Amino acid sequence: MPDFDYDLFIIGAGSGGVRAARTAAAAGARVAVAEDRYLGGTCVNVGCVPKKLYSYAAHFHDAFEDASGFGWQLPGAPTLDWATLRDNKSGEIKRLNDIYGRLLDTAGVRLINGRARVVDAHHVEVAGERISAAKILVAVGGWPWVPDFPGSEHTVTSNEVFDLEQFPKRFLVLGGGYIAVEFASIFNGLGSDAHLVYRGELFLRGFDREVREFTRDQMATKGVNLHFETNIERIEPGDGSLMVTLTNGETLEVDAVLSATGRKPHLLGLGLSELGVELNTDGTLKVNERFETSVPSILALGDVTGGPELTPVALAEAMHLVQQHFSDTSARPLDYQNIATAVFCHPNIGTVGVSEEQAREKYGAIRVFRTDFRPMKHTLSGSQERCLMKLIVDDESDVVVGAHMVGEEAGELIQGIAIAVRAGLTKADFDATVGIHPTGAEEFVTMRTPSRT
Ligand SMILES: Cc1cc2nc3c(=O)[nH]c(=O)nc-3n(C[C@H](O)[C@H](O)[C@H](O)COP(=O)(O)OP(=O)(O)OC[C@H]3O[C@@H](n4cnc5c(N)ncnc54)[C@H](O)[C@@H]3O)c2cc1C
Repeated sequence: MPDFDYDLFIIGAGSGGVRAARTAAAAGARVAVAEDRYLGGTCVNVGCVPKKLYSYAAHFHDAFEDASGFGWQLPGAPTLDWATLRDNKSGEIKRLNDIYGRLLDTAGVRLINGRARVVDAHHVEVAGERISAAKILVAVGGWPWVPDFPGSEHTVTSNEVFDLEQFPKRFLVLGGGYIAVEFASIFNGLGSDAHLVYRGELFLRGFDREVREFTRDQMATKGVNLHFETNIERIEPGDGSLMVTLTNGETLEVDAVLSATGRKPHLLGLGLSELGVELNTDGTLKVNERFETSVPSILALGDVTGGPELTPVALAEAMHLVQQHFSDTSARPLDYQNIATAVFCHPNIGTVGVSEEQAREKYGAIRVFRTDFRPMKHTLSGSQERCLMKLIVDDESDVVVGAHMVGEEAGELIQGIAIAVRAGLTKADFDATVGIHPTGAEEFVTMRTPSRT
């Protein structure tokens, strides 16, 4: 075995890279990691963390409105100080960056600040050094992709939106994926006149149809202006604002436009195309169950491989990869079935397993149990917000194959249900579970009559 500088060289200290570095070092490997931007990657700096903090901030809007029905008198109309939110968020991220640095340090991982490039199957170049490694892990994540249209240079992406200098009183999001939907809700809640423009007939493609329609109606009720089956034709800067012309002829004057139109793997200048590393048709890196690319000493995980683009997936992949390559080479591959996910639009979506549409294709016969109701809290708050809960059952086996919710804290609730769905529990198991009263969650164990088959 040739003598390498490191057993594992990781490019990218994001969700997957940091977890792989720490667990590989704990397994006794000599590890170095290169990072050219920020410790913790997308999730910590410009993804999950700031987004959730802003979502919390946005929820106060409803909370202030709901409070009066419970007897609370507010001294005046609450107002948002954007700079306080933005700067407190930045302080928290700085704290997390430091924690990540310390975690790598105490694990004995060498951190190199710089943009790394792969030279060959066992060498990388970074910060003027040429370093050899038995295995190279590409954990470089993705980068926002903005479509080309006249004036597209006036849009911001999720990389910049958290740090806008001024709060956008009029805000437009272009896109129909979960990030677009979340930001439309967040800025609406923070007080913007928020618009979402999407070329398709309905956002959140791939999610359960009823969930999508219910979310559309709830978001519209909360005041988000939804523009489907149209696109941005052009953006022209006005007097401190942006004039957006849509392909349906409508014109909107706004203060900021967020392009939430997808992400592409962050592979530019990395040197992998020169090595002939194979790609999937969508441009992501092709890997096998052991996270090996077509050059077996070069591994890859996380968003750059095009699996579900979620932090817990990158973390799980990192732990599997380290097990498979450094501790237990016979470890079983990662199971990608039944990964739960949340969309932090308002109200939130939580989902696990298959949608009703997927279930109809996959199983011969299904039973659908669904309920939508006004949560108890809103009997006094006066809010029109409703909650949707839905279970999809494979009729033959009685196994619950999908659970979906749109409502307050849906992500928190579905995480627990996900254990039951992953464990393959049956509707009879759900029925035998005594509920917790009074909660909304008890509906998941009290829906007795199928709404449709
Ligand atoms: C707005 C937004 C919201 C999101 N919300 C959620 C959420 O709520 N829940 C969830 O689970 N997921 C969420 N995600 C997705 C999540 O952030 C990603 O799935 C996750 O960060 C992927 O981890 P990764 O390790 O693959 O890459 P990343 O975390 O992106 O890390 C890659 C790192 O590599 C570095 N890098 C790139 N190239 C080089 C190079 N050549 N040399 C050195 N360093 C390099 C980058 O600077 C970066 O730090 C969100 C994403 C976005 C954009």
